[in-house]
Amino acid sequence: MKIAIVGAGIIGVTTAWELASDGHQVSVFERRGAAAEETSFANAGLIVPGQVGPWAAPGMRTKLLRSLLSSQGAIKLRWPLAGRELRWLAQWQRACRLETHLANRARMQRLAFYSRTRLHELTETRELSYERSQGCLVLLRSRRDQKLVQPGLEALRAAGGAFREVDADEARRIEPALSTDTELAGAIHLPDDEVANCRQFALLLKREAESLGARFHFNCDIAPLSRAAPRSLALSAGSDAIPFDAVVMCAGVASAALLRPLGLRIPLASVYGHSVSANIREPLNAPRSAVMDERHQISISRMGLRVRVAGSAELGGSLNTMNPAALQTLYKVLHDWFPGAATLQAGVQQWKGARPTLPDGPPVIGPSGVPGVWLNLGHGASGWALSCGSARVLADLVGGRDAGIDLEGLGVERLSL
Ligand SMILES: Cc1cc2nc3c(=O)[nH]c(=O)nc-3n(C[C@H](O)[C@H](O)[C@H](O)COP(=O)(O)OP(=O)(O)OC[C@H]3O[C@@H](n4cnc5c(N)ncnc54)[C@H](O)[C@@H]3O)c2cc1C
Repeated sequence: MKIAIVGAGIIGVTTAWELASDGHQVSVFERRGAAAEETSFANAGLIVPGQVGPWAAPGMRTKLLRSLLSSQGAIKLRWPLAGRELRWLAQWQRACRLETHLANRARMQRLAFYSRTRLHELTETRELSYERSQGCLVLLRSRRDQKLVQPGLEALRAAGGAFREVDADEARRIEPALSTDTELAGAIHLPDDEVANCRQFALLLKREAESLGARFHFNCDIAPLSRAAPRSLALSAGSDAIPFDAVVMCAGVASAALLRPLGLRIPLASVYGHSVSANIREPLNAPRSAVMDERHQISISRMGLRVRVAGSAELGGSLNTMNPAALQTLYKVLHDWFPGAATLQAGVQQWKGARPTLPDGPPVIGPSGVPGVWLNLGHGASGWALSCGSARVLADLVGGRDAGIDLEGLGVERLSL
């Protein structure tokens, strides 16, 4: 089939690869000048399937309210919120119920474990070499933090995920540069998990997809799909529409607006986050792999010769305005755990990205309900961890095959459009 993909983030690139490897004639259209220039650009890089889960969770409403009173809260609402953001919050609140949360978490983790296996297959068979390190340590500052993670550990145990609860001494043996000046009650060690550079992987896999015949068209800002010819694409600036046998929407947060003329109302919100990447000053003072500060929900990871600290979650505001308080918290947490690890005087990259987030958590993968229009979108805070599996699932569905995992709860029908 002649298939068009809109968007060359990690989701569009992995989808292009899988469809091209199934023998389809693939064209990818991207408004930016290169792949992975938006949310897939400088994310935390964590591939931690056992920690993947919806933002909608019991206790989150209280956390959100509490964070409004603190400048260092892990999550923030930025007033005024638009009408669609308020509607999204109402749906999100309903999905915070324990049963709904657990069901969505199980759906996301099933996809995440499948995705990690697919990522490893691609890495090995295509001999892809990108920045990656093995293992992740979840840092628990106090006994209270240790208690709060117990329900999550129960779920992880039930899902068969490998982990070990370790004391502070053992945590410091795993990550020897952890500062002794910051209180550490213990940690969870996830030895099979990893951190890796999402953008680098996307650029490498793009090249592999091209070697199978996929064509990438950059600086092509695609117009919203038309109801009269939903499988034809035209440029926003105006151009003749090019017809395809199928269109796959992978345009991250922009997907909702591109699909609206088809009568699809996808409740996608931008949940903004920040990252800071800096050159390592002294490797002995830097993390070996990834650590996650559970209390602040901030990760610090090794990215080759750089260290990257990432986190914060904001609803409302805009992509173009950095939040100084969020950045300050990133620097504080980096200093708490790895003082002196990075050169912060020069060459620091500060970045803000928009997580394409559905209110209940899981992405939508599969048919849109409009013949020939397919969806692979809404991966929220875990798009990198879910990308390779989501792309494989999408390609199997397009090819009329059964997917490698149970897809219950990952379709568009659950959103009651
Ligand atoms: C601070 C932060 C930390 C994160 N950490 C992690 C992590 O540790 N692990 C993890 O798994 N995930 C993480 N994420 C989430 C992850 O980055 C996203 O889920 C993922 O990048 C989404 O990929 P995407 O391809 O859907 O979107 P994008 O990367 O945004 O790609 C969408 C593409 O569509 C293009 N596009 C949009 N509109 C049009 C149009 N009209 N025409 C043509 N092209 C168009 C855009 O230019 C863009 O390139 C993090 C996110 C943030 C912000």
